[in-house]
Amino acid sequence: MWAWLCLVTLLAACGSPHGSSGQQEIVVTTTILGNVVSEVVGDTADVRVMMKPNADPHSYALSAAEAAHMAEADLVIYNGLGLEESMQRNVDAAAESGVPTLPIGDHVDPLQFAEGDNGGPDPHFWTDPQRMVLAVEAIADRVTALPGIDGATVTANAARYRDELNTLSKNMTDRFAAIPVERRKLVTNHHVLGYLAERFGFKVIGAVIPSGTTLASPSASDLESLAGAIREAGVGAIFVDSSQPDRLARVLAEQSGVQVNVAELYSESLSESGTEADSYLGMMRANTETIADNLI
Ligand SMILES: [Zn+2]
Repeated sequence: MWAWLCLVTLLAACGSPHGSSGQQEIVVTTTILGNVVSEVVGDTADVRVMMKPNADPHSYALSAAEAAHMAEADLVIYNGLGLEESMQRNVDAAAESGVPTLPIGDHVDPLQFAEGDNGGPDPHFWTDPQRMVLAVEAIADRVTALPGIDGATVTANAARYRDELNTLSKNMTDRFAAIPVERRKLVTNHHVLGYLAERFGFKVIGAVIPSGTTLASPSASDLESLAGAIREAGVGAIFVDSSQPDRLARVLAEQSGVQVNVAELYSESLSESGTEADSYLGMMRANTETIADNLI
């Protein structure tokens, strides 16, 4: 409603580059980055997250009012590795009009997809908490440079949150240690767990959608060859995103001719407030339990 009122008043009262509190306003594209930025920023600036809970970041598009809001931000923080496929033009437009932007992907040592999976950088860096530590450092560095920011508070928030990420990482390592090495094999709905696999010693057998984006779709022969790989590797479970239809994964589980569970992960976005995955830490803890429960 506020955004609509903003529009009908021809931006006259809303054209200020600052948030409603008079503080700097930081616009963040995804729910996961939005939560992490909020942890670092605390109450030193206003943080506005563009995507909704359970959104598919590959396809999420802004309304005209949301795009106008982004264009008025003091800083736009986004993934930057090709994740926000339908929002990138809005980020580019904001940057062209002079809004400072922070592409987190520039700071997290990205992995590259294999050529057969469309090539290019893998945007799903958040599945590795140590990559998120790098993101926190980049966020804190950039935010403390904003005019009028309480930099000491931001620095302290970042240090506290980095400790929580390191604890998360250690707890994930401990939990995954219970999975026998020969069962550390992952099949997902699209290629979303490459960073987690690299960090914690899993092997990615394949993806139902053999691509780094949910916007692609598998051919019958893609499904057939993945079914063969699943049989050969003795994969115990297929992991799908909790917000996305898992029909293809069920078809694949049937085709593979072996007993394969279809389990749900929070892989692309946080879920609604009040649920187990309403924060990055909560999402990662829930996913860790689901992965371990289905592979042990
Ligand atoms: Zn994805």
